[in-house]
Amino acid sequence: MAEKKTIPYKIYLEESEMPKQWYNVRADMKNKPAPLLNPQTLKPVTEEELGQIFCEELVKQELDNDTPYVDIPDEIQSFYKMYRPSPLVRAYCLEEKLQTPAKIYYKFEGNNTSGSHKLNSAIAQAYYAKKQGLKGVTTETGAGQWGTALSMACAYLGLDCQVYMVKCSYEQKPFRREVMRTYGASVTPSPSDTTEIGRKILAEHPGTSGSLGCAISEAVEMATRQEGYRYVLGSVLNQVLLHQTVIGLETKTALDKYGIVPDMIIGCAGGGSNLGGLISPFVGEKLRGERDYQIIAVEPASCPSLTRGKFVYDYCDTGMVTPLQKMYTLGSGFIPSANHAGGLRYHGMSSILSQLYHDGLMEARSVEQTSVFEAAEQFARIEGILPAPESAHAIRVALDEALKCKETGEEKTIVFGLTGTGYFDMVAYERFNNGEMTDYIPTDKDLEAGFAGIPKFPGNEID
Ligand SMILES: *Cc1c(COP(=O)(O)O)cnc(C)c1O
Repeated sequence: MAEKKTIPYKIYLEESEMPKQWYNVRADMKNKPAPLLNPQTLKPVTEEELGQIFCEELVKQELDNDTPYVDIPDEIQSFYKMYRPSPLVRAYCLEEKLQTPAKIYYKFEGNNTSGSHKLNSAIAQAYYAKKQGLKGVTTETGAGQWGTALSMACAYLGLDCQVYMVKCSYEQKPFRREVMRTYGASVTPSPSDTTEIGRKILAEHPGTSGSLGCAISEAVEMATRQEGYRYVLGSVLNQVLLHQTVIGLETKTALDKYGIVPDMIIGCAGGGSNLGGLISPFVGEKLRGERDYQIIAVEPASCPSLTRGKFVYDYCDTGMVTPLQKMYTLGSGFIPSANHAGGLRYHGMSSILSQLYHDGLMEARSVEQTSVFEAAEQFARIEGILPAPESAHAIRVALDEALKCKETGEEKTIVFGLTGTGYFDMVAYERFNNGEMTDYIPTDKDLEAGFAGIPKFPGNEID
């Protein structure tokens, strides 16, 4: 037996141990995620159709269900080296405080200026846009992390970056906006009067504080209207999950170095990119029958796409301009209540994660906002890092599981994804600190209204 090594507080990797390829979990899935459909013809979208919205290389990645490993271009590897590898932290202090026999690890992705994992895909998407000779990209941002990450990547590569920012975040987080502008991006609150779809949404819902779905519609419209521009998206898509597998691959290498085998892997799920990236290598082992893990997706009770949504084809945006994607969805017209975890307010879910969940390879739980902030506070006070509200969803369930181990005496090994920091979320923390935070759980009737907007065609019935 190998000598048992003492596990340090932080497991870092050497640069030479960083991944040189992304891992495409679709290659190992027996039930592949359903293809994107053209909403007019209801036929699978072609490479050419997608190429009008996305860069060529990214279209290839989006549609590739078969290639298990994709080379990470050297320039992206170099960029990764500026802020990666990210540490895998053993939460010894938290374990001690909780008096739990569980062993808790977290992979911390907040150690770059964007404050989240989003930079991992932003640099890849900007790189392929640049390589194609484009002038710039358009995108949406909710909480602002994706817009920040993309503006950093575009600044580095010399690309123009136009960001549609969900209006309530734009107003609540003026400093986020200024970070993006510092990196050279232009930022427009959405819905806006700069696009046809924005004007239409404003006319139908005057005074709306916006949603990710609206902002996506506007960004897509602007990309197709300007020569030399394409649209990029920070989550949901297969390509984004692919880029985010650097998280899971680094985690796996770090664990393997010390012979650690997790029992449980937990992550928050908005569009599913960080969770998909974290779990992909482990799900690959599950799919190939090599090992088993319990995998838990955590979502807000206010936007419960996995736990209460329908597994059907739906639009990815409110304006219904994007292809149809088969996923767990609350309906593209669903506008969640003002939950403070902006990055988890999306109506749908990655089709890869949706399929894995449907096939029983992953579980899902929904948690309420105040209990999430209680977990965030507890974590901040012990481990020091002030977590993003999104990340705190994963913390909540990790704490719950560690406390269960305390009762049962089980020494489970728990790994969770700590996706980012919450410095721009202090309005939310302020509400919590003042005892003014509320929990809103949509009623079945609220959800019915969203489901009513799901496109109807043969084979796409709900229930
Ligand atoms: C965007 C974001 C998320 C949610 O997005 P996913 O695509 O589901 O990963 C989670 N945490 C943070 C900090 C984010 O910025």
